[in-house]
Amino acid sequence: MNVQPKFSWWEKEGLNRPADFAVVGAGITGLSAAYFLKLHNPKARVLVLEKGARPEGATVRSAGFACFGSASELLLDVESMGADEAFGLAGQRYRGLQMLREIHGDMALEYEACGGFEVFFGDEKGKAEEIRDQLEHVNRQLNERGEIDGVVFSELERHETEALGFKDLHMAIKNKFEGGLQPQKLWNSLLVKCLGLGVEYRSGVEVKQVESGRLLGLDFELPCRKILVANNAFAHAWLPEQVKAARAQVWVSEVLARPFAEGTFHHKEGYNYFRGHAGRLILGGGRHIALEEETTFSTENSEQIKQYLMGELLPKLFRNNPPKMVESWAGTMGIGISKKPRIGLWKPGVWTAIRMGGMGIALGTLAGKMGADLMVEN
Ligand SMILES: Cc1cc2nc3c(=O)[nH]c(=O)nc-3n(C[C@H](O)[C@H](O)[C@H](O)COP(=O)(O)OP(=O)(O)OC[C@H]3O[C@@H](n4cnc5c(N)ncnc54)[C@H](O)[C@@H]3O)c2cc1C
Repeated sequence: MNVQPKFSWWEKEGLNRPADFAVVGAGITGLSAAYFLKLHNPKARVLVLEKGARPEGATVRSAGFACFGSASELLLDVESMGADEAFGLAGQRYRGLQMLREIHGDMALEYEACGGFEVFFGDEKGKAEEIRDQLEHVNRQLNERGEIDGVVFSELERHETEALGFKDLHMAIKNKFEGGLQPQKLWNSLLVKCLGLGVEYRSGVEVKQVESGRLLGLDFELPCRKILVANNAFAHAWLPEQVKAARAQVWVSEVLARPFAEGTFHHKEGYNYFRGHAGRLILGGGRHIALEEETTFSTENSEQIKQYLMGELLPKLFRNNPPKMVESWAGTMGIGISKKPRIGLWKPGVWTAIRMGGMGIALGTLAGKMGADLMVEN
């Protein structure tokens, strides 16, 4: 039986002593917030509370795409959010990625500057032409709005598209600013940075209730001057109208006979994604075929999504027999009525930095900083 022992006197002492800043949740957003809080307020007591023995959210369960949105996803966002918000959000993700790389360095993240690619297969020619016609416009908007300099999206030449080695690939669009990283390495580096500055990290401590001036849980009552709720989808328990869960699922193949094409790949407005890593294929997505069913905190893989990805997408990625999938996992994203994260005041002395959506690896560092800045300035 796996029953956690109750807190010792020493453990309780740390959980009941007043903190200047307390952060709920130790994903990329929460730890980044704690990092900035302690960096700029070295004398303050900064405490991060994490419910799991290890972090149980999306960060270490992500697919490691360091991306800020394919051209077709961006255009879809323009339709649903308007141009200002859609291009602004892409810019925030881009800046978040830059900040992440500056803080940790590419080695610590195992960052590969391999570029991101959006792909369209033979049965998607109509969609591909539609996006091709808009590429120049999207690039210009990103430049003129001051979000990203340089040519962001460019269509691959025919021979480059062929060289990717996929079956019946019609068109591919490259984004040279994207790449891939190792999510567990990212988290390790963040924790080491936080501990090095003197942030206090407590795992296995679930916050049950958030009040102005204190956090409550089983066997503790922590007085804190300022609180940041950074538990992403799990904030649904407190703010159901602001954030809800969306399951994302990933599969890993056996070792491939030949190296997979270099790059991180997106398909179907970013709903499907795949990349080579350590001689294997990492393949995820499929949520768009069952949006209702995927609104769940379950971390089991679903047979429906598996059938779709293995039946529809996998065979297109190999000219010969596709590989067997040998591992899989699922995790919980935080989404909501808007694709924009919810960063702001919740109640006196309590802020949120939640709803990171499907690109929180790009956004998390900046979102954490924005949350930290609000706490310090107000
Ligand atoms: C399978 C999958 C693949 C993904 N792939 C990518 C990708 O390739 N690229 C990308 O950019 N994004 C990806 N994402 C999304 C990205 O991982 C998230 O947007 C990002 O990690 C969110 O980080 P976060 O710190 O805000 O939240 P989380 O990482 O979810 O962290 C929240 C933390 O809060 C803790 N917590 C919850 N409730 C409490 C409580 N009451 N008390 C204390 N602690 C609590 C949780 O245990 C968790 O550790 C993916 C997500 C999933 C699930």
